[in-house]
Formats: sequence, structure tokens, C-alpha cells
Amino acid sequence: MSHVVVVGSFNVDHVWNCATLPRLGETLSGRYHTGPGGKGFNQAIAAARAGAATGFLCALGNDDGGRQARALAEADGIDLRVHDSSQPTGTAGIYVDEAGHNTIVIGAGANADLSVAWLGRQAAALAGARVLLSQLESPLDSVLEAMRLARAAGTITMLNPAPANAQCLRELLAAADILTPNETEFAALLERHTSHRIDSDAIAGTPDAQLHRLCRTLLPRGTVVITLGAAGAFVSHREDLLRGDDVPFYRVAAGKVEPVDTTGAGDAFNGALAAAYAAAHAHPFAEHVRFANRYAGLSTEHVGAALAMPRLAVGG
Ligand code: ADP
Repeated sequence: MSHVVVVGSFNVDHVWNCATLPRLGETLSGRYHTGPGGKGFNQAIAAARAGAATGFLCALGNDDGGRQARALAEADGIDLRVHDSSQPTGTAGIYVDEAGHNTIVIGAGANADLSVAWLGRQAAALAGARVLLSQLESPLDSVLEAMRLARAAGTITMLNPAPANAQCLRELLAAADILTPNETEFAALLERHTSHRIDSDAIAGTPDAQLHRLCRTLLPRGTVVITLGAAGAFVSHREDLLRGDDVPFYRVAAGKVEPVDTTGAGDAFNGALAAAYAAAHAHPFAEHVRFANRYAGLSTEHVGAALAMPRLAVGG
């Protein structure tokens, strides 16, 4: 049985590194590379390389991208369950400028075929896991179905509400035990679901007690972990669930690293947090966040998404 099950996307990333991002009508040349990605797959690889027995539920096309996903999952010991799609495997076109800024176009392809009916047939896999981890690059009704099936079986549900422009429905929030937005996603969720407004650039500088109140408004029943890039993460717990010396909110500093590529850092964090929580859920939550920070920091020292995930097991 898998301790962590990830439901989500697989994409073949096509990446161009350019001096600047192309403007309307402009043709540029850039250094090109391709590699595996997709938030779901990146997070599954991270969980597996962080030592969790990991399952990955996704939809793939009958093409080179689909075969690449199968081979990579097997190499990392991931229990892959595939909804076979007649669409091409998902793709992402990514331009990155010299400052590390990017623009991305996703071709969802097969990912859009991950259906509620197919997920319903994976109920045993979801029930056998300790943690379900999902994101918003798959059809939202399917993500919701996975979270509901998992929760009904007592599996902890973790939702990474990314990308920020996806419609994160209130039902999805209500189905999450742990919510892990980055600063942009947190600001977008507050705007969509509450009367509060905050600039994403102001989040890291907001006093902790105020951030905690905002988190409680957004997700009264669950834990919120806001990732803050080089500043680490902020954690807000539901107060009536705290035990012993637990504190309701705190920050956990990031690891000291020399980043060369922060693509997929959030995915590294999510996969590692799920793995750490699944391995020792009775341990203080801050311990898991510390591990996730360390793991995500290390991922920034390598270029790429899925293949940049470090091999660093929980407790290692
Ligand atoms: P996203 O990739 O979704 O934008 P963040 O930028 O918040 O997410 O990064 C996720 C996590 O990756 C952070 O919480 C931190 O642990 C780690 N991280 C990202 N950038 C750095 C950095 N420059 N130095 C150290 N750790 C980093």
C-alpha cells in the first residue's frame, strides 16, 4: 500500500532560456531543453525520493510522453495507475528570462481526461494511503472526488492550490485537511473566497497573528502552510486541535542554499511535506515543515523540475 498517493498532471516540459521574454510579435532565439514535469508528477517524484511509498494517479496519451512517464515512474519505484487517454500526453511551453521570470502555456491534453468515473475505480488506492496530495492542473471535479473518497476512508487530504489562476472551488477547500498555497495562490484564494485583500508581495512582511487570522478565515477546519520562497514557510493550525506544547502559528526558516533554478520548488516542498507527514504523523508538524524546507531548498540547486528532485529520505 502507498503511504502517499498523488493525483495530478504529467507534462512534457519544453523550456527555452532567453535573455528576455518574447514580446507580442517578436521572434527570439534561446537555449532549449525538454524534460518531465507537471505539478502532480513533480510532487510524486519528490515524495518517492523523500522515501515515501508513493502512488501516482494520472492520465497519459499513447505516445512518447506517456512512455517516458511510465519509465520514469518505474525507475523511482512509483506505483503508477494510468487512465489511458486518446489525447496526446500533456505538454508545457516555458520561456525563462535571465532574471528567472517565466511565462508558461500548458496543453492539458490527456490530463483533461482524468475522469471522476475512473478515479472512483481507484478508491482502494486512495483509502490505503496515509496522505492524498493533489493540485489544480487536473479537472476540478476529479480532484474533488479523489479528496472526498480519501477523506471518507480516513486518509489525510493535502491540497496544493496551484496554479493560482485555477478556480479553487469552496468545496475543494472544505475537503482539504492541509492547504499549501504559495504567496500568489494565498492572495488569490483570499480574494476569491473572503472579503480580505492582501498583496502577495506583502505576505512575508505581514505580522504572524494577522496572517493566522487570514488563514483561519480561509480554512477554518484545516492547517494552512504558506510557502514564502527564500523566507521558508508560515504555518497556521486550527487551535482546538492543538496538543501539549503545540503553538497555533509559526514560521519555519528556509534552508541555506545557492539556487540555480527555483522551478518546481513548491512541488518539491509539497511532495516532501506529504512524505514526512505520512512517515511520522504523530511527530510535531513543524518537524515535517522543516524537512520540506530543506528538501525544497536542495531542489533549487539543480536545473529542471521532476529530475531536479533530490534523493533525501525523511530522517536522512
Ligand atoms: P513556488 O515554487 O510554488 O513559487 P516558493 O517559491 O514559495 O513556491 O518555494 C517553495 C519552497 O521552496 C519554499 O517554502 C522554500 O522551502 C524553498 N525555496 C524556494 N526558493 C528558495 C530559496 N531561494 N532559498 C531557499 N529555499 C527556497
